[in-house]
Amino acid sequence: MNWVFTPPAPSYLEVVGTTDRYPIQRVFCVGRNYVEHAQEMGHTGREDPFFFCKSAQSVLVVDNSGTSVMPYPSQTQNLQHEVELVVTLKQGGANLSVAEAAQCIYGYAIGLDMTRRDLQAQAKELGRPWELGKSFDAAALIGPVHPNSELLDAGGIRLYINDELRQQGDLNQLIWPIAEAIAFLSRYITLLPGDVLMTGTPAGVSTLQPGDVMRAEIDGLEPIQVRIQ
Ligand code: MN
Repeated sequence: MNWVFTPPAPSYLEVVGTTDRYPIQRVFCVGRNYVEHAQEMGHTGREDPFFFCKSAQSVLVVDNSGTSVMPYPSQTQNLQHEVELVVTLKQGGANLSVAEAAQCIYGYAIGLDMTRRDLQAQAKELGRPWELGKSFDAAALIGPVHPNSELLDAGGIRLYINDELRQQGDLNQLIWPIAEAIAFLSRYITLLPGDVLMTGTPAGVSTLQPGDVMRAEIDGLEPIQVRIQ
């Protein structure tokens, strides 16, 4: 048996303080998981969580060696940032209880769910999928994974543009906390080791311009910095 072409190496994340790499299987994102961001997107009340995916190939690894660069994407006039806690799984399963879901966690990273907001808005209006607004080259900017099997259920989350605070929240404001979101998703899809969950963004999303520098912070994790070019 021969592969028709050489299969590419898997997408991966760095593991903080080591040369280890965390291989990515899939990237699931939770929509509208903070009350104030749901409101700024025009929604109220608690609804079941909903999910969309970014391809593993849309991940741009952000390291702590300086400022990483994200090329300004094509086909948009409205690139926006969403700072998010990223949860990485070391094991999966189906129909997980909340306690079982918590035990699947390998660690945490800081992520930016980059969004072509104009394409997403157009897709919403036409009842079409969000892929072209959410899953494109370098649409998921993710820093090093901090191994930690404990639940991270509180702590500040912030996003600065050119040193100006734009997004601010606390992980204790998640409408669907991490383990609940994982358990919910596992009722619909069998989760796998290497699956990554971007857990939603607090209020304050805004439009970026080339040259802008984003600095994303979550208490207890090393901040990441990315320049739009
Ligand atoms: Mn998001």
